[in-house]
Amino acid sequence: MKVLVLNSGSSSIKYQLFNMDDKKVLTSGLVEQIGEPTGRLKYKWLDSNGDTQEGIEESHFGDHSEGLKLVFDITMKLGIIKNLNDLYGIGHRVLHGGEAFWKPTLINSKVVEVIREMIPLGPLHNPPNLMGIEFMLKMTPSIPQVAIFDTAFGQTMPPHAYHYALPYKYYKDLHIRRYGFHGTSHQYVSKQAALFLDKPLGECNVITLHLGNGSSTTAVKDGKCVDTSMGLTPLEGLVMGTRCGDMDPAIVPFLGKTLGLSFDQLDTILNKQSGLKGICGTNDMREIERLAAGGDLNAALAIDMFCYRIKKYIGSYSAVLGRVDAIVFTGGIGENAIDIRKQCCSNLENIGITIDDAKNSAQSRKERTISTDASTVKVLVIPTNEELEIAQQTVECIKTS
Ligand code: ADP
Repeated sequence: MKVLVLNSGSSSIKYQLFNMDDKKVLTSGLVEQIGEPTGRLKYKWLDSNGDTQEGIEESHFGDHSEGLKLVFDITMKLGIIKNLNDLYGIGHRVLHGGEAFWKPTLINSKVVEVIREMIPLGPLHNPPNLMGIEFMLKMTPSIPQVAIFDTAFGQTMPPHAYHYALPYKYYKDLHIRRYGFHGTSHQYVSKQAALFLDKPLGECNVITLHLGNGSSTTAVKDGKCVDTSMGLTPLEGLVMGTRCGDMDPAIVPFLGKTLGLSFDQLDTILNKQSGLKGICGTNDMREIERLAAGGDLNAALAIDMFCYRIKKYIGSYSAVLGRVDAIVFTGGIGENAIDIRKQCCSNLENIGITIDDAKNSAQSRKERTISTDASTVKVLVIPTNEELEIAQQTVECIKTS
């Protein structure tokens, strides 16, 4: 059973084709610079010996459909699929489902229209997501296609967690509320955590920390999201690569009035020039760690702020959950940055969290425990796999629809 996962961005398309029998990726790739004079398709595939091979093609892609056509030509030429009817289904990543979509949804023309209605909530991502969907619907109308929303996992939050204390009419009229993002990743690692802990998902309370360029955390109670750090947009919450996360909202009008900045300029400052980059000049955590080790005080400050914010969320989500079975680190930083994990969990013994330095320092790509045996809250590192989660949800949705 072969399932294609597509993530169509504004000028790029990421894809993975899974064999769902053994969960292996048969081919994957990235089409870049769509609309530019020269675009590029970088791809990998498993050859008949099971070895990974790589290829690259340069061409002009006028739009997403031209990029996808080349992807399919190459995939068929490599013999990975004979034709598109070899696909069991296609899973499309969609950023924003608003309150309309709380689970994977089989795509039809009505669903396309509702995703279009969500564009004001996801203005940068929903339009290219839709382009991928509409092209594939035209090209393969008989293959079931499923929309997997990054906001869906957050739809189980209770009202007291998702409302902002703003005039209620803004929620009613403009749908302003907390939605949360990275939902597919938080859902995947919380399921894997349940398997790892050998506990039914419906009895698991975990705090998931997705720490990458964008970072967010989720409180998961009995397998369901009850709170999350990102809000109406992915700007809220943790200190991120270039986003500020939580701050006093009055800073926005203060900066605007004092410096005569427009809303667009303020938006750029908060989303692209803040966070780790705003504090120390770079958003690459490896570089920041290197700078801090060399005595750069702003790099050290950026790390301290990043970890302190995470620690505050661990504390508040522990209060939200009551009992915490595990804290899960994932994402580029969460999976790899040993010292960051240690600092986030330091001095938390009073709430049952103790890191085992040797386990934390061991290099591994596997799911693992990094807490001591005595730690009542287990601390886990679980590599995320959003594409596999999308593929699994696609199969599940097609089977049950
Ligand atoms: P994205 O959110 O773009 O998917 P990733 O999840 O790939 O990002 O995470 C990127 C971040 O992970 C970067 O800040 C990078 O420096 C950091 N990172 C990757 N490997 C390491 C490592 N070994 N140590 C510290 N940070 C790392």
